[in-house]
Amino acid sequence: KMVGIDLGLTHRVITSDGDKIPNPRFLHRTERKLARVQRNLSRKQKGSQNRAKARHRVAKVHAKLADQRRDATHKLSTQLIHENQVIAAESLPVKNLLKNRSLAKAISDVGWHQLTQQLAYKAERYGRDFVQIDKWYPSSKRCFHCGHITEKMPLNVRTWDCPHCGTQGIDRDVNAARNILQSGKAILAGADKLRQHEKTTTVGLTGG
Ligand SMILES: [Zn+2]
Repeated sequence: KMVGIDLGLTHRVITSDGDKIPNPRFLHRTERKLARVQRNLSRKQKGSQNRAKARHRVAKVHAKLADQRRDATHKLSTQLIHENQVIAAESLPVKNLLKNRSLAKAISDVGWHQLTQQLAYKAERYGRDFVQIDKWYPSSKRCFHCGHITEKMPLNVRTWDCPHCGTQGIDRDVNAARNILQSGKAILAGADKLRQHEKTTTVGLTGG
């Protein structure tokens, strides 16, 4: 079985099968708790005993959140590795997303880097192929069905409607994940021609 995965903003990961994997609820709860103790800290007088206590509480919640995120990421990466022989992913979120502060937060929350790192070493451990697509690969702007590449695909456009082949109403993230899978497969198949055209690169291949 092969799967392509796309980074989501509202969902953690979207797969080429159409699965949308949300962040676990306990992460949202801990995030809210962190916001609360941070607010509490900001209200304490500088140099006071209470401020020191509040700072300690913030550090504790921070550590808890980091642990929970890592555990949730391990669960997801293990699941993906066990269910698939081939996993294709983007190497990094698109840079211009990072310029937007709120999106940047969402991206860092998702821990994309942590996830791809875990997938890479688990793929090696369990004899799977983990393929990473060049970050400039136009996964969101390309039609998975006919390969047509559109010039613009603004983030608020949620479905893929192809002006070339007439494919309509495909979830934009699922379309992207399918493109990522196609590109990953092409890399594995050693399709040099496609590689030259689309400038894809591979990282962390294990014996493929
Ligand atoms: Zn098309």
